Amino acid sequence: MKAKKILISGASIAGPTLAFWLYRYGFETTIVERAESLRLGGQNVDIKGAAQKIAQWMGIEEEIRAADTGELGVLFVDKNNVTKAALPKGESNLGTSELEILRGDLVMILYVHTKENVEYLFGNQIIALDEHQDGVKVTFQNGEIRDFDLVICADGIRSRTRSLIFGDEPVVKPVGLYVSYFTIPRTATDSRWARWYNATDARVIFMRPDNEGTTRASFSFMSEPMGYEKLSQEEQKALLQEKFADAGWEAKRVLAELDNNADVYFDAISQVFAPRWSKGRCAMTGDAAFCPSPLTGMGVSLSVVGAYILAGELSRHDHHSDAFAAYDKAFRPYVTEIQKLPPGVPRLAHPKTKLGIFFLNTILNVISSKFVIKIGELFSNKNKSSTDDTIELEEYGK
Ligand SMILES: Cc1cc2nc3c(=O)[nH]c(=O)nc-3n(C[C@H](O)[C@H](O)[C@H](O)COP(=O)(O)OP(=O)(O)OC[C@H]3O[C@@H](n4cnc5c(N)ncnc54)[C@H](O)[C@@H]3O)c2cc1C
Repeated sequence: MKAKKILISGASIAGPTLAFWLYRYGFETTIVERAESLRLGGQNVDIKGAAQKIAQWMGIEEEIRAADTGELGVLFVDKNNVTKAALPKGESNLGTSELEILRGDLVMILYVHTKENVEYLFGNQIIALDEHQDGVKVTFQNGEIRDFDLVICADGIRSRTRSLIFGDEPVVKPVGLYVSYFTIPRTATDSRWARWYNATDARVIFMRPDNEGTTRASFSFMSEPMGYEKLSQEEQKALLQEKFADAGWEAKRVLAELDNNADVYFDAISQVFAPRWSKGRCAMTGDAAFCPSPLTGMGVSLSVVGAYILAGELSRHDHHSDAFAAYDKAFRPYVTEIQKLPPGVPRLAHPKTKLGIFFLNTILNVISSKFVIKIGELFSNKNKSSTDDTIELEEYGK
């Protein structure tokens, strides 16, 4: 196609994957990232189905395998750290997956594979977009003004660039769960097993081993939408301190480390539904366009596949509007399928009362592991392994 200069907003998973393929197809690509450097936080993320195939084609699958955290599976524990159920890696679609990696390690791998061929602008962002007949005039926060043929936003679920382009047309729908991810020092109770703990009032603490000698912690709690995601990081930390102060188990240890973390990810788990993914010379991909939520276990995979298809369609069409239409047509049915959450998710995994937790733990404890796995599959739609492969990937060539 004639449009050759493409600006991507967001240097996480979707942005660099898109840039990787665009470079392969001969485009000149710039990525602008709001943070001063790559954001490397977060827990393990899965690379499944079609995304695994794309990782192979990108030549990064072995690097991803080499960065495996060594997690053996997930233990469900009570307040005394007694294991109520164990889901070993690979024996269930819930828990530890066959191919997974720390989110930050994947971000770094994608960066290393693109940085020579893609211009990265850190600590900057788009503040205005002015589309004209031949391109888009972009004003950056640092005052610079540059022209690009196309602009793609890949800057996550709370994308401001998306608002500049689409206003409030895309719907960000909360699922009733807040989650936070951060890293804490490893201690004697941490092992190669991840540990999942339910506290009353629909609160969960989930700790996972990493391959860096630390532990990846997360807090999650059910709540009506309260706008907590808009609070400052200090306010979010204070909220978590208050919410989990009496949660029991290792809550005090995790809370004691919270304030030492400079990059605490905190958000209202939500899904993004957008009636269109493009407008004029601008488009979007990744969580900004179609976040399925971490409850599906498919956030990263969907981002990788979406970026691959968008780049491929741009490579094969003369006009960007045809490419954007083909991207939508090829990818939307898959996205729609992945975004379907089973009934009871995420409530089933976050019981409110002591009795509810007792029930959950008793079921997990007493019933045979096969049944446990079935119960586990109710927690998320990770059991949709059939849908992981329901998209036939085009080989766009080169
Ligand atoms: C720090 C962090 C930790 C995470 N941890 C987990 C986890 O543990 N488990 C999980 O399932 N998912 C996690 N996620 C979400 C997960 O990365 C996404 O669901 C998925 O990978 C889709 O990626 P994405 O590239 O579309 O968006 P994201 O991964 O959300 O990345 C968006 C990027 O855009 C940048 N950005 C935001 N606004 C702007 C702007 N205006 N201009 C320029 N850049 C901007 C952000 O700094 C970020 O680098 C995390 C995301 C982040 C940012």
